Amino acid sequence: MATVAKIRCFSCKNSFEHYCNTPGGGGIACPFCYAVLPSNIAQQMRYSMIIHAEDNRSLREYSGNGTGTPLFQFDLLEVGKK
Ligand SMILES: [Zn+2]
Repeated sequence: MATVAKIRCFSCKNSFEHYCNTPGGGGIACPFCYAVLPSNIAQQMRYSMIIHAEDNRSLREYSGNGTGTPLFQFDLLEVGKK
């Protein structure tokens, strides 16, 4: 399992994926136009992705511990118009 963020770059109108375990000290830049996310926000995103991954892992553990707990996994999407 891997946690991935789909990032929309409004500078060049492309989208790209960023994996939680991508090395590089937490910096995130658009691979198309090299626009850089503010480092503090990139770090917050990394924390969010880690928490998301941990929650899904916990859900798998609850389901797999023999209690009959149903398995759920969740993804996060922002909806609405920018
Ligand atoms: Zn871009």
